[in-house]
Amino acid sequence: MAFKDIIGNDRIKRILRKTLQKKKIPNSLLFSGPEGVGMKDMALVMAKAMNCQQKKDDACEVCASCRAINSRNFPDVMELSPIGDVIRIDQMRILKQTAYFRPMVAKKKVFIVEEAEKMTDEASNSLLKILEEPPHFSHIILITQNPYMIIPTIKSRCQVLTFSRVPRENIEKVLTEKGYEEEKAKIISLLVRGNLKQAISLEWEEIQARRRQTWQFFLSLIKEEKTSHFLKNFSSTRAVAKEELSKVLEILSSFCRDLILIKEKGDVHLLLNPDYEEEIKKTEKLLSLELSMNFLTKIEYALYALGKNLNINLLVSSIFSSLVEWRYA
Ligand SMILES: [Zn+2]
Repeated sequence: MAFKDIIGNDRIKRILRKTLQKKKIPNSLLFSGPEGVGMKDMALVMAKAMNCQQKKDDACEVCASCRAINSRNFPDVMELSPIGDVIRIDQMRILKQTAYFRPMVAKKKVFIVEEAEKMTDEASNSLLKILEEPPHFSHIILITQNPYMIIPTIKSRCQVLTFSRVPRENIEKVLTEKGYEEEKAKIISLLVRGNLKQAISLEWEEIQARRRQTWQFFLSLIKEEKTSHFLKNFSSTRAVAKEELSKVLEILSSFCRDLILIKEKGDVHLLLNPDYEEEIKKTEKLLSLELSMNFLTKIEYALYALGKNLNINLLVSSIFSSLVEWRYA
């Protein structure tokens, strides 16, 4: 994988390549962004580009260094991730010891720390010492989805690069190139909200089941029926609640948008759920246009709140109660 193989985040690629061209690579980088947007891939490409024997600002993928890094068989690139729930002080000690020795075979040593927010306080303090006086040949790339959990003294010593979600069109394109039918690619790209990794790994049957379930939920919400069954199912899986909830909300939003499109006599080719056209038409009379718009606003706000990464347990219950009570809130 080279820079061109990473979908999206072109701005970050440009910044990184410029540091390579100018030979001004920061000793510490912090990649921050949502899940599935290729932060780890970007870190590995960067590690290859720093050590590539043929290219100055990219990975050639054929030289000995690029190939060794690809097969995770390169002594000067080290990857660190949490053991259990935390990155421990002893892991950081090893990093620290290694960071001060000159590279064995490479030009640059690269340390990639995944889920960096999971460093214990001791591990953070130990890392801080390296960041304060980094050996010129060592580079540390921290990766996190939760930058606010990284202590400010670490953050201030890193160049922070904030990744964006992968645009929907790009995900759709990747999926059609992989052989997905257009309609499937469209539906999947809509659901994953910029998470390319997830788009590639989702099972179509699983998606269909979730859509059916959410359609029932949508119906019960607009008909003001009991939603307790759905909610009960949901609250038993709190651990995965955030992921799940964002998918449910994304599907709800798409059904609501389609309902509005039908009510406004829009072009049915623009439906986000073309396979639900008949069913959506049947519900058309249940809600006025104004209420449909209000409902959509509620769902969109819930998605926004979810993206802000607040306390997930509180959020799940408040989102559901606001959806259930949406008409009166
Ligand atoms: Zn190379």
